[in-house]
Amino acid sequence: MTAVLLLLLLVLPWIVPPFYQTLFVFYAIATLVVLGLHLLTGLAGLTSFGQAAFMGVAGYTSALLALRLGVSPWLGLLAGLLATLVFALVLGLLTVRLKGHYLPLATIAWQVALYIVMGSWVALTGGRTGLSDLPPVAVFGFELRDPRAYHYLAWGLLLLYALGLYRLIHSRHGRMIRALKGDAVAAASFGARPPSLRLWTFVLAALGAGLAGWLYAHFVRFVNPSPFSLEASIFYLIMAVVGGVGSFAGAFLGAGLLTGLEQWLKDLVPLVLGKSGNYEVIAYGLILVAILHLAPRGLWPWIEARLPRRVPDPPEGEGLPARAEPVEEEILLEVEGICKSFGGLLAVNRLSFSVRRGEILGLIGPNGAGKSTTFHLIAGVLRPDRGRVRFRGQEITGRFPFETVRMGLVRTFQHPHLFPEMTVLENAMLGTYPRTRAPMLASMLGLDRTEERRAAVEAFRALERVGLAEKAFLKAGALSLGEQRKLEVARALAADPVLLLLDEPAAGLRAGEKRALAALIRRLRDEGITVLLVDHDMELVMRLVDRVVVMHYGEKIAEGPPEAVQRDPAVREAYLGGVT
Ligand code: ADP
Ligand code: MG
Repeated sequence: MTAVLLLLLLVLPWIVPPFYQTLFVFYAIATLVVLGLHLLTGLAGLTSFGQAAFMGVAGYTSALLALRLGVSPWLGLLAGLLATLVFALVLGLLTVRLKGHYLPLATIAWQVALYIVMGSWVALTGGRTGLSDLPPVAVFGFELRDPRAYHYLAWGLLLLYALGLYRLIHSRHGRMIRALKGDAVAAASFGARPPSLRLWTFVLAALGAGLAGWLYAHFVRFVNPSPFSLEASIFYLIMAVVGGVGSFAGAFLGAGLLTGLEQWLKDLVPLVLGKSGNYEVIAYGLILVAILHLAPRGLWPWIEARLPRRVPDPPEGEGLPARAEPVEEEILLEVEGICKSFGGLLAVNRLSFSVRRGEILGLIGPNGAGKSTTFHLIAGVLRPDRGRVRFRGQEITGRFPFETVRMGLVRTFQHPHLFPEMTVLENAMLGTYPRTRAPMLASMLGLDRTEERRAAVEAFRALERVGLAEKAFLKAGALSLGEQRKLEVARALAADPVLLLLDEPAAGLRAGEKRALAALIRRLRDEGITVLLVDHDMELVMRLVDRVVVMHYGEKIAEGPPEAVQRDPAVREAYLGGVT
């Protein structure tokens, strides 16, 4: 299929009239921008209204260098991309930490500001008249003036960019980028650094647009502000949305459809109506509404749902290397007098306890006792007001999860934090992030293959351990609650935990599922994993754990073996109340 499409792409300029040859170059240019939006908006969940401005930065940079200094377009390309990179880094650093609507607003501001500069700094940019007579791009002395020749340049560059992006999306970074959109806390718990990941996503999308701007400038060999306007930026967003902003193929579909549609309507509408005017804008709007009504998530997802799905083979071979140094510490976790208050409420008050290697420690207490807060304080989601947390002899108080997860402190969430759009296997593979190291560029160049395969094997094994292997290629959204909890555990196992923190793993499970979960936890302990289990289900905890710490109103009221704790009058009073 891919081969057929590539062949078609190769011969296309020779079988269609010049009008379509030109259209296809514009198609490639638009796709570069839309692919960036797929990554940025569709996967990372950041909306940009400023992509056309990035095109302008690269286009004008190359144009000015060529016209004023006689620099070749190829050096202009480098300079243009560099300028785009600088602008994107500065803008990104200022904005990617912003939440919600601030990023889109910031991109609008930046887009409008740059447009005004392009239009008003007449001495530099030629104002609205623009700059004309740009030199054509030359390859080995051959000038690409003809759309036929330019076709190969535009599509060649597009395919390179697309390939790099595709590989990135299907790498450890891509999984984390997709995870960030839904749940930055969960992504960070498995080793991602959300701000830097967002920044690089922003930069990559900007570079795609920069490439498009350069191609545009040297194709029409003229630049003025209008193709780099806010309208153009919005038009690219519409292309992304129509094709399906969350799907890779959707970028090609949306860009192609709308590039074509705009041109056809310009010719067709006057023929049908028998008079000319701006009627095509109306037709265009109607078609858009119809498409989005038919396929709210975009056209490609709509088509994809109707195509037969190929189930991949389970990954085989070697897994990731296990932790190099053996765990020798007798006491894995030490919590020393930690306090946390929310406003006037003292949620955790001078709590101290420790977890020994090889045991299952239960942390129990009635609802609101401060268990989850304690959990967050240990896992680094919250910072204690006072007190210290040590893990494997090192102080980790207030350290970020991405640091502690590498040391083997791995957690699950009370309410499953999974990613329904990713497969079960991909969700489990998120756990391997701290154990893999391919940098972004290596992933884009496809140099991470071995590591990726091993990560998949490792994640698949974790699924086998919890009994989810046969569902590996389903979307996680299709799992029952019990299975979701298993997947949470599998993802944690894929991170090679030394100490596993489980927050209410049994909540909402049926009796049979609870028994299976207890058996699983016991098995993990026998395999050498230490477990800190937070739960309020007395029965489960008492049957399973070696020791218990009981919390009430943020304080520890008892500690010891289950039977002794169960007999403790203070515990019965506070926790069991009238039950026994
Ligand atoms: P548990 O997990 O034992 O049920 P939590 O640790 O979730 O208890 O909560 C302990 C207390 O702290 C509760 O009274 C809860 O309402 C309060 N609390 C927890 N998180 C927050 C927060 N982010 N802001 C304000 N109060 C909170
Ligand atoms: Mg809780």
